[in-house]
Amino acid sequence: TRSTRPQRMLKAVQKNATKGNPESVISAIDYFCKNSEWAMNVGDEKGSILDSVVTEVNPSTVLELGTYCGYSTVRIARLLSPGTKLITLEFNPAYAAVARQIIAYAGLQDKVTLVEGPSSELIPQIKERFGITTFDFIFLDHWKDRYLPDIKLFEECGLLRKGSVLLADNVICPGTPEYLEYVRNSPHYESRYYPAHLEYTKVEDGLEKSVFLG
Ligand code: SAM
Ligand code: MG
Repeated sequence: TRSTRPQRMLKAVQKNATKGNPESVISAIDYFCKNSEWAMNVGDEKGSILDSVVTEVNPSTVLELGTYCGYSTVRIARLLSPGTKLITLEFNPAYAAVARQIIAYAGLQDKVTLVEGPSSELIPQIKERFGITTFDFIFLDHWKDRYLPDIKLFEECGLLRKGSVLLADNVICPGTPEYLEYVRNSPHYESRYYPAHLEYTKVEDGLEKSVFLG
């Protein structure tokens, strides 16, 4: 049977990247997506915005919604200070299996906990399961209609503290209008848009950074 796109992305990493070198893993995936097959990674242009926000926040606790093949997981994990834990959630077992291999190829498996399941079920379990009190940084990049219900779940579960930073991908394309309207109008967030383009294209897209004010 024919291989899947995530399997072909993993092959490209194994062929072209250096084990234990996250930068080479990122480059190999970007090269594959620009030259062979488009894929829904945050990509290099928005990825560098993600990098600068992670560096600025210097988080000790990080949550990612939507792992896919682990591209953004590798981007974030490579910037984390020693001792920082990144929890990433993915409900597709085939994607999770590829992501585990890509994260391990980059040498970042000790910094990352990949949890398989739907965010709506897992978010309420996070405190107990992982001994987390609040997240310093959250990257939202799962299905776009889940951003709004899941940010409300963070609030209900007490996973945000004053100063927690949320960064949401694809707020223009495919778009998350209800989420944008919520974070931009709620007195509990200070929100800012970072314009860019949909990964590996010239189509307008961007990231929304929202700081929880308590
Ligand atoms: N963050 C990744 C990157 O930049 O490399 C890309 C993530 S991709 C755009 C979205 C992923 O979220 C898909 O792999 C999908 O299976 C997963 N997903 C969507 N809704 C989810 C949910 N409610 N819970 C867990 N995973 C979900
Ligand atoms: Mg995205």
